[in-house]
Amino acid sequence: MNNQEIIALNERYQFPLYARAPIALVRGQGCRVWDADGKEYLDFFASTVVTSLGHAHPRVTAAIVEQAGKILHVSNLHHSEPQAILARMLCERSFASRVFLCNSGAEANEAAIKLARKYGAEYGDGRFEILTMFGSFHGRTIATITATGQEKVRLGFQPLPEGFRYVAYNDLEAVRAAVTPRTIAIFLEPLQGEGGIVAADPVYLHALRQLCDEKGLLLIFDEVQTGCGRLGTLFGYQRSGVVPDIMTLAKGLGSGVPIGAMLANERTARAFTTGAHGTTFGGNALTCAAAVAVLESIEAEAILENCSKQGDYFRSRLSELVTRCSRVRGVRGDGLLIGLELDGPGADVVEKCRERGLLINCTAEKILRFSPPLIVTAEEIDRAVSIVAEALAT
Ligand SMILES: *Cc1c(COP(=O)(O)O)cnc(C)c1O
Repeated sequence: MNNQEIIALNERYQFPLYARAPIALVRGQGCRVWDADGKEYLDFFASTVVTSLGHAHPRVTAAIVEQAGKILHVSNLHHSEPQAILARMLCERSFASRVFLCNSGAEANEAAIKLARKYGAEYGDGRFEILTMFGSFHGRTIATITATGQEKVRLGFQPLPEGFRYVAYNDLEAVRAAVTPRTIAIFLEPLQGEGGIVAADPVYLHALRQLCDEKGLLLIFDEVQTGCGRLGTLFGYQRSGVVPDIMTLAKGLGSGVPIGAMLANERTARAFTTGAHGTTFGGNALTCAAAVAVLESIEAEAILENCSKQGDYFRSRLSELVTRCSRVRGVRGDGLLIGLELDGPGADVVEKCRERGLLINCTAEKILRFSPPLIVTAEEIDRAVSIVAEALAT
């Protein structure tokens, strides 16, 4: 099928939930993808910050093929080796001592919300309220749209669960003032991705940790987007050194296979006992084998070093556009999660870049988001920057 045929089928049979660009991607290799008409693109969106090691990464592909030939799925009523190995790897590399494996970011956050509530019920005098941030994004289930501090994702889905309140991001006084005797947790992204590539101030994060310790609150980091090497450290919290009690992962963890994880320290984790939560597909043998290969590759191929180095280079190249292009206001972000702030809506720039063979995305209306695979090279960055400059000039 060509682009047109695939698009026609999708438009006929699927809910029209996504504002899709008019191309169908059929193949990828590293940072490059091809559409059904054979046109090549540089994928600087990493298919929504997912393909952390690029498309068709040999080690990840081999792990998937090998596991598919053995066993695809093992019920969570039995044990599975890929799951056991992945859980150990995640704990050994983070603050956590327990992991719950699931299939997406929203599921990981649901699990975090449930763990916080259960912890409140068992060890926190029945406290249940969770403070989240304006501008945040935590997923599309009923609980995670409620946690998300954006009115637009909640419209039409009322009534929503109780027990969530929103405060301004990066505003310590606002959080302090919002804590009540019913509050059990503070839930935030260490860097807001969908919210427009807005980083939390490290001083603020340290103060949140202190506040949580003072008041007996749980600090929960949604690292669905910032985790798995994206910021140049394996986990985003390692940038500030502020350690959460619960952390969620998904997007880059499987570099393209659907997997999520919720991790917690021992004190918090004890609230989840047998039967408290569960999933059929979570911890699936195939996706776990892929995630193990992703973590192994990150270490074997010096991916974090590349992420930091190319991230610095990319930001410095984009900074040139601040002086060269009147529409560009500034550059922000960390590692390879980078935003280019425009003076107005950026949808036309995304389209012009696509026509010129570069896939990027625009978030929070005015922020062009760049999140290439962490294997990206300086040459690919140069090419992307020249396409962006051209798109901005027309
Ligand atoms: C993408 C994202 C989610 C939701 O993940 P899904 O896999 O789409 O459910 C949650 N939190 C953050 C920070 C995200 O970027």
